[in-house]
Amino acid sequence: MTDLLSLSFSELEALMPELGEKRFVASQLFGWLHRQRVCDFEAMTNLSRLLREKLKNNYVISGCTIAKKLVSVYDNTVKYLFSLQDGEQIESVVMKYKYGYTICVSSQVGCKMGCTFCASGIAGFVRNLLPGEILSQVYTASRDLGIRISHVVMMGVGEPMDNLDNVLRFLSLITDEKGYNLSMRNISLSTCGVVPGIYRLMEENLQLTLSISLHAPNDEIRSRTMPVNRRWPMHELLQACRAYTEHTGRRISFEYALIAGVNDSDRDAKELASRLRGMLCHVNLIPVNSVKERDYVRSSPARVQSFQHTLELCHINATVRRTLGSDINASCGQLRRGEGPGTDNSQS
Ligand code: SAH
Repeated sequence: MTDLLSLSFSELEALMPELGEKRFVASQLFGWLHRQRVCDFEAMTNLSRLLREKLKNNYVISGCTIAKKLVSVYDNTVKYLFSLQDGEQIESVVMKYKYGYTICVSSQVGCKMGCTFCASGIAGFVRNLLPGEILSQVYTASRDLGIRISHVVMMGVGEPMDNLDNVLRFLSLITDEKGYNLSMRNISLSTCGVVPGIYRLMEENLQLTLSISLHAPNDEIRSRTMPVNRRWPMHELLQACRAYTEHTGRRISFEYALIAGVNDSDRDAKELASRLRGMLCHVNLIPVNSVKERDYVRSSPARVQSFQHTLELCHINATVRRTLGSDINASCGQLRRGEGPGTDNSQS
């Protein structure tokens, strides 16, 4: 059955005559779905009983229910494990910053990309999320916490560019002024480097922030840790990034997880700086989070500082990302891993 939450306003409008309704009823329905954000047709009290009945019999509203909720005692970061209607589970994390609440949403159940430091793909790929299932992470968390979420980062489980049709639809729905009306400037989308997706997003010319998970200064290191690099090597990726910034005028944010002895020497920093020279960009340094199944160790604070300093000496803007929710395994894929059948759940 079709998911109503995934349909655009004009698609809902086009549906109305088929359901024997006037087109303006689409505004009421869109309002229930995206402003009041109800998941139950019975609650849509200004729709006729007949219409509610037809909707119930022919459509679904993709929603998620809270299977588990962890709140960090350090910083109130909240991590959700949501169950989808087919029983699959996904993760989202809500963080509080000075400027408001940010949610990190998942775009797929599992991931195909196989980055060696990441927990998201360990259990493999299951399926793409529908636009409505991405939206519903935002709606469910904001309802549960009684807050308005002002920023969305697509940095949860999954590769957004591997599910780009649904992700673009999600972006257009969440920024619809008749609905949740989030500002596109408050959205970040992160990719491990799916080059055709970067060009496609470029053509959309959106005001969002594009993040690239770079994590290496050269192909040798990058192909070892990120299999996607064997398909689209760094020169192709960085060429796409330059085209993106030139076309959109938007600065790109490069994510760089520092792993002791792998990619964190000052030589690596210099090489990285030389590859990024002249680009409208910013580097976000993240001491790698240890993942139980991997033996990567995070770089020491002194190493992180030295790496950052070296980049800045080469005129590359770099900041170190603050870690939130470390007591609740708030990083990618960690909760879902803990929930799987037969796995040890005691750490959560
Ligand atoms: N697939 C997309 C979206 C995931 S974003 C992407 O790769 O960009 C999640 C971010 O966290 C990515 O930058 C990813 O590389 C990073 N990440 C994954 N595992 C990590 C770990 N163990 N420590 C630090 N960062 C990690």
